[in-house]
Amino acid sequence: MNRPFYPLTLLLLLLPPSQGNAEDRNCSYETYQWSTVERRAVNRHTVTHPYSELRRDEIDPVTGCSVCREDQVTINISGIEPFQVCHVVAGSVESALRDIIERGIPVDEVVGYRVGRTRGEVDENGLRTRFSNHSFGVAVDINPQHNGLYDRCITFGPHCRLIRGGEWRPEIAPASHAADGTVVKRFKREGFQWGGEIRGRQKDFMHFSPTGY
Ligand SMILES: [Zn+2]
Repeated sequence: MNRPFYPLTLLLLLLPPSQGNAEDRNCSYETYQWSTVERRAVNRHTVTHPYSELRRDEIDPVTGCSVCREDQVTINISGIEPFQVCHVVAGSVESALRDIIERGIPVDEVVGYRVGRTRGEVDENGLRTRFSNHSFGVAVDINPQHNGLYDRCITFGPHCRLIRGGEWRPEIAPASHAADGTVVKRFKREGFQWGGEIRGRQKDFMHFSPTGY
């Protein structure tokens, strides 16, 4: 009587326990908070919990990517240090970068996935409370040493203050991204917006993401 059931039982035993049930998987990531008082990263720690317990703020509503390292894939392009981005945007990021490099534009550094609360409201201790788009692996910084982040910069000019990376000088530096240049155009074709064109007091010339922020 039991014999017909044997192959099915064996198959079930051979399946890994997590197969077919994403809820059982763990999500893990290292994170920090940006202190607006000390102007540095603080509270570095590792978080691990099941995917089923992901909070709303741990998921990007635009792409569905999460802060979990399990959602990220590594991009290997020769000449650039490997970096990670979310699997949803990995194909777009890789093909845009390969095209750009093929056209002879220098790409010396790309920064992708990096989890940290560097945005949003400040709590009573002066700490930022919202995850950046790099936290979900949906933002990339390209050539930060030639495409700085500026504040006090509603429109770009000598009054803008460089707060991270190197000076943006597209008229003389081939690794600086011009507004009408190949890097900006190619990433826009993939549905990304450029941090050099975001509204507000900051201009983040190295930065590309689906929202520009
Ligand atoms: Zn960035």
